[in-house]
Amino acid sequence: MGEKPPILVTGGAGYIGSHAALALLDAGWPVVVLDDLSSGHRWAVPEGATFVQGDIADAGLVGAMLKEHGIQAILHFAGSILVAESMTEPLLYYRNNTAATRTLLETAMAAGVNRFLFSSTAATYGVPDAVPIREDAPTRPINPYGRSKLMSEHMLADAGMANGLDYVVLRYFNVAGADPAGRSGQTGKVSTHLIKIAAEAATGKRDGVAVYGTDYATPDGSCVRDYIHVSDLADAHVAALEHLLANPGTRVTMNCGYGRGFSVLEVLDAVDEVVGEPLPRRIENRRPGDPDALVADTGLMAATTGWIPKHDHLPTIIAHAIAWERRLVERG
Ligand code: UDP
Repeated sequence: MGEKPPILVTGGAGYIGSHAALALLDAGWPVVVLDDLSSGHRWAVPEGATFVQGDIADAGLVGAMLKEHGIQAILHFAGSILVAESMTEPLLYYRNNTAATRTLLETAMAAGVNRFLFSSTAATYGVPDAVPIREDAPTRPINPYGRSKLMSEHMLADAGMANGLDYVVLRYFNVAGADPAGRSGQTGKVSTHLIKIAAEAATGKRDGVAVYGTDYATPDGSCVRDYIHVSDLADAHVAALEHLLANPGTRVTMNCGYGRGFSVLEVLDAVDEVVGEPLPRRIENRRPGDPDALVADTGLMAATTGWIPKHDHLPTIIAHAIAWERRLVERG
């Protein structure tokens, strides 16, 4: 085996991107992070990575850095990720997620970089007919966030066929937890995700947790989701990258989850066990746009890349999320 070539990680100062950068470095890949720090943090960029602050849609900057660093593949995480915000600012989402990805792809192809790994989402499925969801299920996103990502998936497929672009699209289910060694974690300005919110409640940042609806068509009436540890998702990217580089002509879209669902109430029960006492819960009305159940069919990812999760254990995900939250409290 020769030396591993440098990889560009866009959005490497963000939650998932920083964990992917850590996983790449841990596996011996040189990493260059490009991030405009609009929502990411400079401290989240791992020490061993080269950091460039800038916009993925700045073709001059990106073209020059691809050449300067001899980049061989791009892991593209940069983008906007808040579903509710996408409902009120759709054009921002089509700019940051769709148009910026188009420019980045064009710049990459012009520089001869034709291997691309794209962060997509289970939101591309919308409300599924059945779970677990296979990758060939209909894609009918119900918000601009999901549509902005799906449009990028279509661009990849078209450029794959027409221009010889090789790519892996990973559709994430519910990402949670933090680096087990405490090197990174979730630090958005606005928290909307259940396990993040529960971790904030566990560390006293909130009074308790709201349960958005107990009248869904699920066993206990609360919504069911497939929660995946962020470090397992990061490892999935390393496995997908290795598959992409070893197999020219790869053009594949794969789910990333564990293939098992937990209800909101089950998650909160697990949080109570980890904390050692019950956190206050309030039953509230449904949040608009939440499907009853989202669970990944994970067969394709496992068969294609051989990826094996290390933290497929809900209490571990929760414990890591809380440990990270405590660090944030200590840091002030
Ligand atoms: N949820 C909840 N209370 C919260 C946050 C989320 O009951 O404070 C529910 C939400 O309605 C959904 C599930 O938890 O059914 C997962 O929501 P999250 O925002 O974490 O992820 P999503 O599935 O929307 O991407």
